[in-house]
Amino acid sequence: MKMLIHPQVDNGTIATAEGFTGGSLQCQCSHHLVEVTIAAQTAHNHVCGCSKCWKPEGALFAQIAVVSKDKVTVTANADKLQVIDESAAIQRHACKECGTHMYGRIENTGHPFYGLDFVHTELSKQQGWSAPEFAAFVSSIIESGTAPEEMADVRATLTDLGLVPYDCLSPVLMDVIAAHVTNNQ
Ligand SMILES: [Zn+2]
Ligand SMILES: [Zn+2]
Repeated sequence: MKMLIHPQVDNGTIATAEGFTGGSLQCQCSHHLVEVTIAAQTAHNHVCGCSKCWKPEGALFAQIAVVSKDKVTVTANADKLQVIDESAAIQRHACKECGTHMYGRIENTGHPFYGLDFVHTELSKQQGWSAPEFAAFVSSIIESGTAPEEMADVRATLTDLGLVPYDCLSPVLMDVIAAHVTNNQ
């Protein structure tokens, strides 16, 4: 059975646009929207099943990409942002009013992904952001209420959508982490 994964991938993904140079993200408030401007194309876009990433109402997965943190600027209503969990490796800056996560930043300079911010490009009106490539932390959706019996259908749906399901990050990103750990021993 086909499962609903996330609105950005359920009916096929929008292709990455050549030469795309970024755009802006808006929160879901009806007024005084928080706006984050991203002055670059994103990378490693994927759907994520972990329980920490922000998901739109009803979605099984989040959709998230990374971009260099020096390309990310809050350009409107910054006073509405708060960090969800100060103790988390990724500091998720969310709108206090609507709860939308606007960007996640790593403050630990020793973290393998230090320098990258995590962003939800579905919050942008622009099209052409890097397209989702894989599914991360798939088994973790069980922690948010998906029945284990449904996992075969979830993995089959992801595979049909061209999003290879992994229960951690993709091999490329796992290699980045392993190399970072090795080089810092
Ligand atoms: Zn908001
Ligand atoms: Zn996640």
